[in-house]
Amino acid sequence: CGIVGYVGREPAAPVLIESLKRLEYRGYDSAGITVLNKSLETYKTVGKIADLESILPEEIVANVGIGHTRWATHGKPETRNAHPHMSSSISVVHNGIIENYLQLKEKLIDLGYVFESDTDTEVIAHMLNYKMYNGKKKIDLLTAIRETTRELEGSFAIAALCSDEKGCLVFARKNSPLVLGIGDDGYYAASDVTAFLKYTKKVIYVDDHEIGAVRPDCIEIFDPKGNLVSKETHTIEWDL
Ligand code: GLU
Repeated sequence: CGIVGYVGREPAAPVLIESLKRLEYRGYDSAGITVLNKSLETYKTVGKIADLESILPEEIVANVGIGHTRWATHGKPETRNAHPHMSSSISVVHNGIIENYLQLKEKLIDLGYVFESDTDTEVIAHMLNYKMYNGKKKIDLLTAIRETTRELEGSFAIAALCSDEKGCLVFARKNSPLVLGIGDDGYYAASDVTAFLKYTKKVIYVDDHEIGAVRPDCIEIFDPKGNLVSKETHTIEWDL
């Protein structure tokens, strides 16, 4: 239902929680975040953002993270079906529906992957993992998201992290909204600009079929052919 992300100098967890609260009006059944410091730390639960907040440790040291509010389409509203979904060193949040997930899931099970949820989303995490670590050649997370999204049918806005690529958040979109924010203290990603309007009014709209990476010092966005595209920055004129 909603996704958020942050790469910057501020502690990520409070930014993600605040951004998720701004998306609560859309309705959801569960929520979760992953933050990346030395390793990935994931917290998720059914219920409200306040319930998610109550299971977080006092202090989380991390400047990079992703978050999600889920409106279940595949798999009951249970904590194990809440996002983010993991595949060892990879964490993924997703809005939308992967229509061919059953075929993809079968292939991944044949390759030895063990599924922990009933969601369509979990295939994305394992596909990224397979492409990065078990494919014929080793590739980076950005290349992995490019190759993975080519195989996905349906709709998606995706944000993903990998503990072997600290400081990097990758994203992709098709028929599901995704917008990036440029703040003084970092970059934001969200399905809806209201998520981060408190922090910045400078936004870049990601178009369908674009993918990219948010790093501590830059945002890179690519068209489906793999060309770097230069995007306009818009300023939001209204307040919350
Ligand atoms: N299809 C995914 C799921 O059921 C994502 C739903 C959403 O956009 O919240 O987990």
